[in-house]
Amino acid sequence: MTRPRVGVLAMQGAFREHIAALARLGADAVPLRDAAELDRLDGVVLPGGESTTMDKLLRKFGLQQPLAERIRGGLPVMATCAGVILLADEVRDGPPDQESLHLLQLKVRRNAYGRQPESFEADVDLSVLDAPFRGIFIRAPVIEEVGEGLDVLAEIEGAPVVVGDTQRLALTFHPELTGDDRIHRYFLEEMVVRATSQAGVAHVATEGGQDAETREAAG
Ligand code: GLN
Repeated sequence: MTRPRVGVLAMQGAFREHIAALARLGADAVPLRDAAELDRLDGVVLPGGESTTMDKLLRKFGLQQPLAERIRGGLPVMATCAGVILLADEVRDGPPDQESLHLLQLKVRRNAYGRQPESFEADVDLSVLDAPFRGIFIRAPVIEEVGEGLDVLAEIEGAPVVVGDTQRLALTFHPELTGDDRIHRYFLEEMVVRATSQAGVAHVATEGGQDAETREAAG
């Protein structure tokens, strides 16, 4: 048994903060830049940043298709902000050559909080958390349409800001910038560990960041 290994796409954007959050929770968190790494992962995070740049780099580094295949094959994924744009089925207000992975039945519009300042904070009530989460929205996309089979886990002013299913979690804000690790914990425990323990690979990391086996070995 090993600690869950989670790759954070590290082409561009806020990947370091995701790695730090996952590491605080006891995961083996690694930067993902190489398709060869994909086979070793129990979960993957697509961070916020600039979706057009990440899209180009994914293609340049030969990661676009291998990553899409792994996620299609069931790898748990958490996407934040630009990461949601990468996963979406349709991207509105992107440059004509922008590609997406078509792995989430969402139609998203880039930078669409037009009347809001470019960045804002709001309390987000997630159905899977016991108390509101302070969401930091930075040039966030608006989810304009949600396909069948996806749950809306939170909304702000009538627009979904968190959607997902048991394998995929998409957030239009930046949970990695708050120091509040509850969403990462949810992803790790309820999605990654659940999937890997079903496959008999990994098990839950505890509060102290050590898994049960490590604790036992340490006495
Ligand atoms: N506006 C960015 C984009 O379209 C996303 C911003 C973010 O990830 N914070 O890619």
